Amino acid sequence: MELLDGKKISNQIKEEIAAEVAKMKERGEKVPHLAAIIVGNDGASLTYVGSKVKACERIGFESTLVRMPSTTSEQELLKKIRELNNDDDIDGFIVQLPLPEQIDTQEVLMAVHPDKDVDGFHPMNFGKMALDMSTFIPATPFGILELLERYGVETQGKHTVVIGRSHIVGRPMSILMGRKGFPGNSTVTLTHSRTKNISQITTQADIIISALGVPGFLKAEMVKDDVVIIDVGITRVPDESRERGYYITGDVDFENVSKKASYITPVPGGVGPMTIAMLLKNTLLARERHKKQN
Ligand code: NAP
Repeated sequence: MELLDGKKISNQIKEEIAAEVAKMKERGEKVPHLAAIIVGNDGASLTYVGSKVKACERIGFESTLVRMPSTTSEQELLKKIRELNNDDDIDGFIVQLPLPEQIDTQEVLMAVHPDKDVDGFHPMNFGKMALDMSTFIPATPFGILELLERYGVETQGKHTVVIGRSHIVGRPMSILMGRKGFPGNSTVTLTHSRTKNISQITTQADIIISALGVPGFLKAEMVKDDVVIIDVGITRVPDESRERGYYITGDVDFENVSKKASYITPVPGGVGPMTIAMLLKNTLLARERHKKQN
């Protein structure tokens, strides 16, 4: 079994991006600028956004964090998005999800200008992705592709089973793994909570991408020998014995499934760090495109 080490690969990617930024500075060019909007005080969301901003600073990007109260109305948020769309200094921005219930998430995602949509959630970018056109691929699926590519995991002709059909992970992943090329050329089955006899499907999988958010869901008896496992799940499990009061776990019974797997991502240290690295990569792409337009 080989560990797909997202921490190591994401550090490599960040170093590559930092080297690009250093060259930009040497040439006296503007460096990429990422902004993030967060609405409310959700602990996990604040942690995620904080890590994104810190990662920007470490590699030499400019970053702006926009904090808005949990009582923010949809109109107020849309106004802020318009400001960022029109701010020439900002190359890309994200709106951290989930949003408070008074705000329609789809309306918000549609308001982000597609050229600045470094999360790749705008329908125009999602459509381009589905049509194999150059675009921003959502950071978590992009990170999974990068891990598979850098470890040289064979995907062609393999049966890939994706568990979960969310718009940010499962659905795009199912499209990307079926695309022509590498990573891709897989035969894909997309499963979800209404799928019957899921074990029958997972035991036939060469590659399983699990994105449901149920700790320990994927057990050893649900997979075949030499399977490749990508565990996207991140769940905070309360644990008073830890200083933070919780620990992080994935969807996979790692201890037992890893004994059968050829490759597996750990949680933490697998897909999570890749997501941040690919957001930075998308911001660099946004800067390069923005520069060409000016
Ligand atoms: P989500 O929007 O909550 O969707 C979960 C999906 O799992 C849904 O499609 C749901 O089916 C399916 N599902 C739920 N229970 C199931 C079951 N028993 N059997 C089969 N399918 C089931 O999920 P998400 O936003 O994609 O997040 C999934 C997990 O990944 C979460 O733990 C999240 O924290 C984590 N995540 C990690 C990263 C990262 O950077 N590593 C990024 C994003 C998300 P229905 O559609 O039928 O309801």
